[in-house]
Amino acid sequence: AAAATAAAGGAARVTLVEVGRGVGGRAATRRTREDERIMVSHGAPVADFRTEAGKGAAAALLAAGAAREVSTPRRRLVVGADGRVALDGELAGGAAGEQLLVGDPTMNSLCEGLLKLGGGPVDMLFGNLVRDVAPIRAPDAGGVKGWLLRGKHGEDIAECDWLIVSGATLAHPRWTQVYGGAPPLVAAARGLGDASDPRLDVALEKIGKMQAKAVQVAMMVFTGEAAERWASVPFTIAEVRVLFSESDACSILDRLLASSAHTPTLKGSGRRRRGEDRRAAQGGAYRRGRPQHA
Ligand SMILES: Cc1cc2nc3c(=O)[nH]c(=O)nc-3n(C[C@H](O)[C@H](O)[C@H](O)COP(=O)(O)OP(=O)(O)OC[C@H]3O[C@@H](n4cnc5c(N)ncnc54)[C@H](O)[C@@H]3O)c2cc1C
Repeated sequence: AAAATAAAGGAARVTLVEVGRGVGGRAATRRTREDERIMVSHGAPVADFRTEAGKGAAAALLAAGAAREVSTPRRRLVVGADGRVALDGELAGGAAGEQLLVGDPTMNSLCEGLLKLGGGPVDMLFGNLVRDVAPIRAPDAGGVKGWLLRGKHGEDIAECDWLIVSGATLAHPRWTQVYGGAPPLVAAARGLGDASDPRLDVALEKIGKMQAKAVQVAMMVFTGEAAERWASVPFTIAEVRVLFSESDACSILDRLLASSAHTPTLKGSGRRRRGEDRRAAQGGAYRRGRPQHA
């Protein structure tokens, strides 16, 4: 929707159709009904602006108070064969001249700010799963003049002239496993006949080849002393290299958390027994997050 508002420059009416409860998608800030103090930026923790156009958007987000600038020191961590965790030098930051922003107060604010940059109104249709994307034929030319989006019971959700799809869900074979039937964009492309567009076919083929892997994400909130230890590590983004084999049942997270609980600089905590590691890791945990799929 942000891309649509920017492209339209306020000259078109933009509608956001989203199955979730708010903007942000995988970059959204998650909350829990059980405790309103808990907010976790679930996906991309920072937004990285590099191009001139991007920097223009960054300036507008800062001016609107939707975001603030941050620096994100990056380090490489090595988990050695002996289980020791060591800092191993500084990682080169992103591209030269990159500008890093986080939403203020949450990543959702940044996403909402992006939607407002185009200047035009955006109709938000939350809680709508698009199950079918049907081309609307131009009466004479045989081409396509628009698109009709239908919901899970076949009901019409919205009709539009142009369709911008974000994420791969509507086009990826995983759709078939989750919802059954062909992915809606693949079905739409098949039905285009002589109005088909080779660029769409190429894009769908590439998306179809993307591998999807279920990932468990632990979201944790720390308070007090444990939070201070996490806050004192000299990086916000780490690339972790593991030198021991994956068949070693002890998890990397156990090791990192246990190391952090003992030495703020994450320098070699040494190998401890598994139970000890886990207790140390969870000692300061306020609440563990629910498993999520990426
Ligand atoms: C746990 C996690 C950690 C991550 N960490 C990082 C990181 O550190 N750095 C980084 O750069 N990136 C990270 N990412 C990835 C980043 O969040 C995503 O790449 C980015 O948000 C993708 O944006 P998008 O707009 O392309 O897709 P999405 O954010 O997936 O947006 C697609 C939207 O479409 C909606 N949707 C899908 N199908 C339908 C349908 N049929 N009907 C209606 N709505 C639908 C979805 O609900 C979603 O809101 C992470 C992602 C996850 C999940």
